[in-house]
Amino acid sequence: MSTASFDHLLSPITLGDLTLRNRVVMGSMHTGLEDSVRHLDELGAYYAERARGGVGLIITGGYAPNRRGWLKPFASEMTTRLQAMRHRDVTGAVHDAGGAIALQVLHAGRYGYHPLSVSASRRKSPITPFRPRALSTRGVDRTASDFARSAALAQKAGYDAVEVMGSEGYLINQFLAARTNDRTDSWGGTAARRMRFPVEIVRRTRELVGDGFPIVYRISLLDLVEGGQSWDEIVELAHLLTEAGVTAFNTGIGWHEARVPTIITQVPRGAWRSATARLKAEVAVPVCASNRINTPELAEEILATGQADLVSMARPLLADPAFVDKTMNGRADEINTCIACNQACLDHVFKNRRASCLVNPRACRETTLVLGPVRTARRVAVVGAGPAGLSAAEAAASRGHHVTLFEQSAQIGGQFRLAMAVPGKEEFAETLRYYTRRLEVLGVDVRLSTRADEAELAGYDDVVVASGVTPRMPDLPGIDHPSVVSYADVLSGRVVPGTRVAVIGAGGIGVDVSHWLTHDPADTEDDWRAHWGVGDPALHPGGLTEPKPRAPIREVTLVQRKTTPIGVGLGKTSGWAHRAVLRQAGVEQISGAAYVRIDDEGLHLLVDGEPRVVPCDHVVVCAGQESVRDLAAEGRHVIGGADVAAELDAKRAIEQGVRVAAGL
Ligand code: NAP
Ligand code: SF4
Repeated sequence: MSTASFDHLLSPITLGDLTLRNRVVMGSMHTGLEDSVRHLDELGAYYAERARGGVGLIITGGYAPNRRGWLKPFASEMTTRLQAMRHRDVTGAVHDAGGAIALQVLHAGRYGYHPLSVSASRRKSPITPFRPRALSTRGVDRTASDFARSAALAQKAGYDAVEVMGSEGYLINQFLAARTNDRTDSWGGTAARRMRFPVEIVRRTRELVGDGFPIVYRISLLDLVEGGQSWDEIVELAHLLTEAGVTAFNTGIGWHEARVPTIITQVPRGAWRSATARLKAEVAVPVCASNRINTPELAEEILATGQADLVSMARPLLADPAFVDKTMNGRADEINTCIACNQACLDHVFKNRRASCLVNPRACRETTLVLGPVRTARRVAVVGAGPAGLSAAEAAASRGHHVTLFEQSAQIGGQFRLAMAVPGKEEFAETLRYYTRRLEVLGVDVRLSTRADEAELAGYDDVVVASGVTPRMPDLPGIDHPSVVSYADVLSGRVVPGTRVAVIGAGGIGVDVSHWLTHDPADTEDDWRAHWGVGDPALHPGGLTEPKPRAPIREVTLVQRKTTPIGVGLGKTSGWAHRAVLRQAGVEQISGAAYVRIDDEGLHLLVDGEPRVVPCDHVVVCAGQESVRDLAAEGRHVIGGADVAAELDAKRAIEQGVRVAAGL
């Protein structure tokens, strides 16, 4: 039972004619369910589950005001009465569940992944292949009216509010920044003229939706790109928008093309709240904080210290739809916390796959992956308390089965416990806190330091084998040299490597271990900002300054046999940041190597046919894993790394655990 108080977070707030039951906003996030009418029922079920879980206001993924504003071909739009009428099912589902919902109007501008894209100017973005057409003067005018018409249609569809997407580098932002607006007509040329577009959008929207209907405007507080807005411009814009009819500001940080991470795990929690507080000090309307806020404790602190009036969380509500309900009922320690990995949400969306959540595979599958209560409880043994076993045990017990969980080590977590030692992956500890607490609440019989055997498993109705993996040791001359250790030895703290280290294998773990080896544990949040060049927006337009070089604490050489660049297989939305960290830390990267031997001199390689020695104190092997499947047998469920070690990842492991439990 959690005894913390969340008075500020749980207090109501009024936005125009709408009173929210609390200050928790589910921020906009595209899931892929928005793009087709076929999925509107599932979209309604997804939102309704969050509304039942107590969220104050849900904001939908972005809907384009016209086809040129699509995110991709045939993506979500709100442009006709018919579409509005179809959305009544979505808004109805949320209202029936006691919630409120806003539609976000988003014009992708030059981020549109299609040949019809338009922007303020004909400048291609670095992250899309299509060069946009520059809107004509009349075209800008029409687009502003399209935004207003979309908002009015949303109102007819039963939405309780609209959010105008003015941040993250989308069309409105493209008009606001000199970087992307070199127009010479009345929509560009000076900062004041660049601001006309959003101001007109809000003014026309207010005209169409009437006085009390809430218009939330998502304002970019830090563009984090060269040629971004100055702080004075942002404050001026906020004043103009308030006069034009904005009810509240949501806040955005960083354009999608920014080369500063803004939401992934390595971004410190609450890293951007000072920028929100600064805006709040300037405006009279409510301001909502966002980005890397994932616990009720942090959300409460932000509100209690007056830094914001509302808190937006998108991924944390994917991870746990009952986030608010648990917060209200003294169960905050049972929240399944978003670990900011992006693996199943944004990485899916960027690959045109439906979003879900690594720690909650039911997200966006509410109607198909159901964990209903069972009629007849069965005796279920789960072998192994890594992510797969934990997930299976929790899900089976939540359905009412009697579950025993066997774990041969003294702690739960398996490979996840190693991952949480990686700098910037400390959030993974929250998942283990969640499972520890849930297993306790559900009365799962957890037997640590216990190796399950055949005799022990004989009395169970079902056996789930989640015995995981063991690190692979390649068959290589010198592999038994005293300098050779595995990634598990290093990340668990069993071995403290010397100052020169060679890493064998450059998959996700090789990259993580290289980060661990070079990272200075004394680095603070301010150092993190300095390494990424995040500056004071009042002094540096866009909030971007010269990055301060890292001072790596070890000399690391990372080696792989493949000839592809290192790290290309990592997640779409986080891989670039991991690769940047390696560069910042001066990690030498060698691709296309053949391993010859390891001896007192170091690691001997052949690179492009030439012999090469990497002198080192330790060789850390990160060459993947092999399944541990001694207990796999006919009639048993084998999941996680015990099932397939290649491409082992926690997303698959946790999903397999839930699916097995759903079928028991
Ligand atoms: P991995 O991605 O499979 O990489 C292991 C690497 O070791 C391979 O890329 C391979 O590269 C090399 N290797 C394989 N067999 C070898 C052998 N016999 N001798 C020498 N080298 C060998 O495995 P991992 O790094 O252990 O990661 C496991 C999983 O964890 C990943 O699939 C990923 O899903 C997840 N993970 C992801 C992240 C992330 O996204 N940031 C971080 C950590 C873990 P070469 O053949 O080119 O040498
Ligand atoms: Fe959070 Fe990862 Fe789930 Fe996305 S996939 S919601 S980042 S835990």
